[in-house]
Order: sequence, then C-alpha cells, then structure tokens
Amino acid sequence: QLYREELLKRFPYLDLVIGPHQYSALPLLLRNLQAGDRVLTAWEKNWIELPIVPEARESSVSAYVTIMEGCNNFCTFCVVPFVRGREKYRPLRSIMDEIKRLADRGYLEVLLLGQNVNSYRDPESGAGLPELLAEVAEIPGIEWIRFLTSHPKNFTAEMSRAMASIRKVCPQLHLPLQSGSTRILEKMNRHYTRVEYLEKIELLKSLLPDISLSTDLIVGFPTETESDFEQTLDLVERIKFSNIFSFRFSPRPLTAASKLKDDVPEETKIDRLIRLQTKQREIQLMLNNQMVGKTIKVLCLGRSKKGNLYSGRNEGYQVVNFSSPVEVSNRMVEVKITGCGPYSLHGQLVP
Ligand code: SF4
Repeated sequence: QLYREELLKRFPYLDLVIGPHQYSALPLLLRNLQAGDRVLTAWEKNWIELPIVPEARESSVSAYVTIMEGCNNFCTFCVVPFVRGREKYRPLRSIMDEIKRLADRGYLEVLLLGQNVNSYRDPESGAGLPELLAEVAEIPGIEWIRFLTSHPKNFTAEMSRAMASIRKVCPQLHLPLQSGSTRILEKMNRHYTRVEYLEKIELLKSLLPDISLSTDLIVGFPTETESDFEQTLDLVERIKFSNIFSFRFSPRPLTAASKLKDDVPEETKIDRLIRLQTKQREIQLMLNNQMVGKTIKVLCLGRSKKGNLYSGRNEGYQVVNFSSPVEVSNRMVEVKITGCGPYSLHGQLVP
C-alpha cells in the first residue's frame, strides 16, 4: 500500500496492488483489470465490516479472528502505523457473530487478533478486552481463547485478573519487551520501563504460576551499548520466556529510528543475537524438561511435518508432537509428555 506506484514500476508483471481493506472487492477488481485499473489502496478511519464469504481456513478447529486493526503507538522502529493506519475496532457483536458461527462448525480455539489488542474498545458499548474475553468464554463449544498482540503499556492489572479468572483464556501471553534497557525503551518510544515490565510479569505469575510467556526482542538498536544489551539478557534470564522472537535492528523507511545513526556494527549485532538465542535455547530446554512426565491437554492440529506423529499445541502454545494408535486430528486430547527438545515437547496419547 505504501509503495504502490513504486511496486508497479519495479515489477511490471504485477497485475494488482490492493490495500488490506480492499480484498473483498477482488471480483470487481479482476473485472476492472481488463480496463487497466491496477491499484486500489486506501486508509479507512472506521472499521469496515466485510461481507460474510465462505472462509478458507487452514485449520478446522483453530481460527484467527480479527478484532482491531492499525496502531496509534509509533514505536520508533516500526512501520505498522504508516502502512495500517490508526487503530479501529471491530464491533463486539460482529466478533461474537463470527465466533458463534465458528463454534457451530466445530471450532474449539480462537485467537483474537490485532496490532494492539489491549486498547480494544467496542465502538458501540465501549467494552474493553476483558469484557470481550468474558463474552467469548460464554460461547458453548469454544474451549480455548488466546489474544495477540499485547502492548505492555496497555496491559493492565485488570487484564491479568481477567486472564486468571476466565477459565477458557489460556495461561499464555505474548508481551513484546523489545529491550531490557529503560534507556533504549525510551528511544524506542515504548512508554514503559524495565521495572514496570517486570512488575506486570510478577503480578501475572502470582495469579497464574504456570503461565507461558513469549516476547519480541531487538538487538543492536541505535546507541545500544554492551551494558544495555546485558540488561536485556538479564531480563530474559529472570523472566524465563517459553519462546522469544529476536531480531537484529534494521531501519525501516519512514520510521523515526531510520533517521538515527545505525551505529551498532553489524558484527556486534550478530554476536548479541547469537548470545541471546543461545541463552534462550538453554532456558527453553530447561522449561521443556520440567514438562516431562506430565499429562497435558493438546489441541491436535493434524499430522506432524514428518507424518509419522500427530502435532498440536498445549495451553501454553508449545508445539507437542505425539504418537497415537488412533486418528486424533482436530480433537482435544490428553498427552503424556515423555521427552523434549528446546523447541517442542514429545509424548504419547493417553487413551
Ligand atoms: S511495534 Fe507494535 S505497538 Fe509499536 S508501533 Fe508497531 S504495531 Fe504499534
């Protein structure tokens, strides 16, 4: 959307460039293509409800449901607000309608999606994410509810309490930290300190001791020193995330950080990324080992990549590969964990 004209010039074989809100107009666009129209992009201020169309979903038990789009935050490294526009929220009744339809079709799990789901507000009633979670939990058939992505600044104590009190909300949270250094967080325009982040995690762990946490981290942000990076390593060590998504900083066009001097040498960024990922690998192996011997619920999503096992996710959103003498795809099953690696758990179906 941002580079529409440039894309068409650079890749003359492209037939169409369309914005995220225009894909429902695809039949019309394809017809108009013959008349030479190749671009349809626009930013919409308000939520546009797309017509109900037969959905092609990857899974028949687990579904993503969009609840909001856009972001108002302007983290200095991120291009999202420039390409997706400001936040707009889907009406709660429309979200509920979609999830009820999914439940009628046998879906067991929903993942409520948005760039910043904690700032969700129903445009009609003003209800926030805790109320939405409580309403979704009332839908018969839906067993597990997750939401993604949260911003620590908007992740309130009320949200922690909602997670702890609504049984169907999985004890799992992706809460992007980005850096363990308050100085770097300020430069990133994140609006929280390392202490505030830790306090939120401590409250969550006190309410949900088995919560599975994941995060995003950037190394080598402009001016990041060894001491800043060590503060990131320190938080990773203390919090013990079950998974991290870690990246080397690279400037994105239009963002404030792209105007800063990218002054951390590439080899330093690589070195920090390797050290971070090595530390995380040890933590994951240690956490996964603690699961061995336990019997856990798994939503089986089908055959594993190698095909001889089944594969699914537990409540903590960890990958579980397991053997079963019977077909269990698309079912909620019990699995005894018999082994693990740093990135997955292994087990056997409990009949
Ligand atoms: S990183 Fe997330 S919160 Fe920050 S601007 Fe991008 S989408 Fe928004």
